[in-house]
Amino acid sequence: MPELKETAFDAFLAALKRLDYTGYAEQYPPFGSWEDLGGKGRELLAAWRRSFRLTREAGLFVNVPFCRSRCRFCFLPVTAIGSSGPVRKRSFARYLSALDREAGLYSGIFRNIRMSTLYIGGGTPSLMTPGETLEFFALLRRRFKIPRGCQVVLELHPDDVTDEKLSAYKTCGVSRVCIGVQSMDEKVLDANSRRQGLGRVAAAHAALKAHGINGVNIDLICGLPGQAKASFLRDLASVIALRPDQVHLNTFINTPYTLHAIAGGRSGDERAVEAVRSEGFRLLAEAGYRKVDSDSMGLTPESRNRQTMDLSGKRSVLGLGPGAVSRAFGAARYINRAGWPSWLARASRGVCPAEKGVFCGPAEEMIYSALTKFTDEQAVDLAGFRRQHGKSFTEAFPEQTRLLKEAGARLSGGIFRLPANQWGLIRRLFYQPEVIKRGLSNIVKTSAKR
Ligand code: SF4
Repeated sequence: MPELKETAFDAFLAALKRLDYTGYAEQYPPFGSWEDLGGKGRELLAAWRRSFRLTREAGLFVNVPFCRSRCRFCFLPVTAIGSSGPVRKRSFARYLSALDREAGLYSGIFRNIRMSTLYIGGGTPSLMTPGETLEFFALLRRRFKIPRGCQVVLELHPDDVTDEKLSAYKTCGVSRVCIGVQSMDEKVLDANSRRQGLGRVAAAHAALKAHGINGVNIDLICGLPGQAKASFLRDLASVIALRPDQVHLNTFINTPYTLHAIAGGRSGDERAVEAVRSEGFRLLAEAGYRKVDSDSMGLTPESRNRQTMDLSGKRSVLGLGPGAVSRAFGAARYINRAGWPSWLARASRGVCPAEKGVFCGPAEEMIYSALTKFTDEQAVDLAGFRRQHGKSFTEAFPEQTRLLKEAGARLSGGIFRLPANQWGLIRRLFYQPEVIKRGLSNIVKTSAKR
């Protein structure tokens, strides 16, 4: 078993994080420890069958890999296709056809599963025309059970809002929209090659409300290249004035995959950025917003994105499209090939496009649950843990319980609470030896390639 002392473990976590290009919430086993899963389509279907014996609660995530152009701060593997013209049209025709084939790989084993959430992310899903949008939803509804009451969320660029598109969203049951605003400062947008009509955000928000799409989340990014504190806070004040249901304050993450990093650009001071973001959360609280998760605040509990809410819960997510991540509860996590050409080459032939992943079991779900709760809330509700996993926390983790108590954790009223956020410590206590071993091996392999 690899034994890493505290400082070495912190360096290991930092290196592991640098391997993560998914942009998704941290998983367990962590992304950096995943292995090559190419050609394991059958094993993945078997993992889903095992998972359905543990839970039948599932959501569907679909990634749309296209954007009109690529923003310099973005680390996602998107393909720029413009907002109109033959390249855009041809790209969506090929995408929809390949997506249908990929969905067909799963539709049989999902035939008795009712999706509780559908999240359409990207990329820029709102680049689809109204006709393509109707086709997109029709294929998903043909392949999966998407009942009334399923929360349907779509990511939207403010420049894409037209009456025809909003009518199509309404027809297709979209109940919540995430507007990717990121910044409203012309200089910041220019510095990041982001094309976005200024003043479009308020119009987009008003149009959504007028079409009865009441769940609106607005995303901003703090710490963007060229962005001063005053600029970020000015953007936030403009957003608060609109009163969207939820506001998401992301931090700029300068992974090796951003155009900014590729051109040799650096990120700002992490602590200073975090201080500005904290001030943003304070302003949101003053305006009546309440904490939803570590990155967002909302006006009502209904404003939440149910797919990402409480990821430590007993639920699965099937991911389709390039770079989509799947979680088969108690059985597997995996990611599709992220590049558009390599996903297309497989999905269009009906070959499973999964690239990396890990098979796991209920033990990993208990660890994931503990890590998520200690990270987000600094506490684990012991009765809730037993309800979810059928096992007592202290029996599942006797050694960790002892060491957490030594670190100042206290048990009171059925809640096991840490005195502060101890992100590194809890990972050092809970990460399994084989996860550390695989992570170290991936770190070595990746640095040998660079
Ligand atoms: S930030 Fe959004 S619009 Fe810009 S490249 Fe990334 S996904 Fe596309």
